[in-house]
Formats: sequence, structure tokens, C-alpha cells
Amino acid sequence: MGQKFDTKSVHLALKDTNSIDSKVTPIYQTSAFKFSDLEDLENFYNGKKDYLYSRVGNPNTDELGGAVAQLEGAPKGVATSSGLSAILVGVLAVAKAGDHIIASNDIYGGTYQLLANELVDFGIEVSFVDFEKVSEVENHIKENTKLIYSESITNPLLRVESLDEVVRIAKEHNLYSMIDNTFATPYLCQPYSSGIDLVVHSATKYLGGHSDVTAGVLVGKEELINKAKGKVVNIGTNLSPFDAWLACRGIKTLSVRMERHVRNAQALADALRKNTGVDKVYYPTSVSTKGNGAIVSIDITGLCNIEKFFKSLSWVKIVPTLAGVETSVSYPLTTSHRALPKESQIELGITEGLVRISVGIEDAEDIINAFEKAIHESIL
Ligand SMILES: *Cc1c(COP(=O)(O)O)cnc(C)c1O
Repeated sequence: MGQKFDTKSVHLALKDTNSIDSKVTPIYQTSAFKFSDLEDLENFYNGKKDYLYSRVGNPNTDELGGAVAQLEGAPKGVATSSGLSAILVGVLAVAKAGDHIIASNDIYGGTYQLLANELVDFGIEVSFVDFEKVSEVENHIKENTKLIYSESITNPLLRVESLDEVVRIAKEHNLYSMIDNTFATPYLCQPYSSGIDLVVHSATKYLGGHSDVTAGVLVGKEELINKAKGKVVNIGTNLSPFDAWLACRGIKTLSVRMERHVRNAQALADALRKNTGVDKVYYPTSVSTKGNGAIVSIDITGLCNIEKFFKSLSWVKIVPTLAGVETSVSYPLTTSHRALPKESQIELGITEGLVRISVGIEDAEDIINAFEKAIHESIL
């Protein structure tokens, strides 16, 4: 080649990668894509080539958006840097300064912070309403209301949203509807198929499934996803190719993981309902014919010493998140719901003895034994 050392070290030995047939999608860990000449570059702008710059589009992030759209039965999806950024671009696709949103008052803590503390600075007003009282939701609708927002299964008390009611209210009042489907996953629940306009996921949870990636996905009607994708590009909330690849790998085993997660959660809920050290077991009954999710919350206030309980969990890890293959526990009072005023904590049932269990895919018997032992050792 006749090049000197520095040039050779920068350009390396390139092969024609077109002839390499990888079984799985390779990781396109690149910030940009190359073009052979100016005509080839023009091909991007006239739609004959898909990729220019990874913030604008990347095969791995497209694969993730497309995969979740397919599972939800939606025409299109876009992957983002986190669940929260997927929520942000979803909201911005339908609402702008001067508009109003109605959100459920028991949504995920991070979403509450985003809607309550950040959107206000974008000039978007949010009302937090008890979605169990449908009339309350309707009473809060104003002339500038654009969106109603809730979650298919809430946390930590696992209320199951009536999606039909949300769709009915949205249709009657000409509003957009958006549902966070993170806890249920498309394995158990497909809000888009029920008529919801936008469905959002923290892929950090069950879609990724292995607690090794932070990612988000928004799916819905093509026109809305195109708008949201524009926000991703302009705000810069794109996902990295490697993280998209990891999330896609997780999705391939979503069904088998969820089947086991759900079966174990049901077995644990049944066992803890019989345990005299447990005051209350929160586990839904009406999510899907395939099961009711993999989060079980228990209230042991007044029956067990909570500090001792958390010290007696042997192999079960204390983790302030959920949805990994390992069983873990979190303590909502001092983590996810810490910022709430005392009255709201009481109103929502976030007590001193509330424990949220993310049930993993281990042997059900071992999981049950671990919790029965911790309760036994901490009982007052
Ligand atoms: C974790 C979570 C989010 C936020 O997702 P990140 O990936 O952490 O940004 C939103 N909604 C629900 C229900 C979640 O559990």
C-alpha cells in the first residue's frame, strides 16, 4: 500500500463485510455510516439508504423498536436511551407548551418526577388523578387536555388499569392515550391492541431481563412514532447500539422467562397468603389468562421486625429495581416512594412494613423457603 505506520494503524485492514453472514444481527457499534460517492450520499436523503448517523438511526436500535412494535401488535416503534426518555418523547409527540395532561396518581416515581417537575418547565401542565374513580378523570378534562397517561399494572400495590375505560374516555373526549406496559410486558398485556395510542416500556426491566441494560421503547401509530422519533433525534435521547443489541437478545427469551416468573410469583403469593407473619399480600388476579405478573408486594407492618427481615433474606438481594432473572426485594418507603409527602405515602399504602418482591426464575420452592425463613426469623 505504500502507507506509513500512523496511516496504517488508523485505517486497519478492512474486509468486505457484505459477504459475512452472521447468524444474529451484528452490533453496529458505529457513530456514523460511510458512503462511496456523492450520489450514494444522496441516496440517504431520497430514502434509498437507511443510515447516516447513529443518533438519527442505527440498525440495532431499529431492530429493538421494531421487535417491541411487533409484540405489541403496533405498526411502529422507536428505541430510546431509557424508559423515562421514551415517556418524554411520547408525551412531546402529542403535547406542547400550553397543553394539559391527566396522569394516574400512582405512577412510577421516576415518571412522576418527570411529569411533575420537568414538563412544567416545558409549559405542559399535569393533573394527577385517582384512576380508580373514572368520574375523577373525566372531571379533570379541560379544553387544552391532550393526553391521558397511566400504567397497565401500577407499583408497588399492583393495581390493574382498566384499559377499556381509558380508551373510552380518550375517544369520547378526543384525547390521546398512553400506557406504560413495563410491569405486564407484551407477554401478558397488549394495550395497543385494546385501542391505546402509545405504549411505552422501560426495556431496562423484563424486555432486557438480565439487569444489564438501561433502555426504553415507545410503540404506536406510525404518525405518532415518526413525531416521537424526531424528538429522539433532535433532543438526543437515542439508545446505544450495544444496549439495543442486549435488549433484543433479552426479548428472544421473554416468553420463557415470563412463563417461569409468573408461575413462581403465583406460588409465592399463594404461600405468603397462608403465612401468619404477613398482614397483606398484593398480587393481582385479572391481568391475563397467562398469569398476573411477577411482582408480589407484602405488608408485614406490626408482625415482623422490618430491619431483621431484610437482614434475614440469605441469597435474595436487596435491589431498588425489578425484573431481573434473580429474585430481589425493594423497600418502597425509603427508595421509590421516598420523595412523597407522608400523607400521600399513607394514602397509597406505602407503609413501614411494605416490601416489594421481584420474583425471579429460580426454583419456586427455594424462593418460598427464603421468604418463609426471613419472616420466621423476624417475627415479633
Ligand atoms: C423503571 C421504570 C421506568 C423508568 O425506566 P428507566 O429505564 O429506568 O428510565 C418507567 N416506568 C416503570 C413502570 C418502570 O418500572
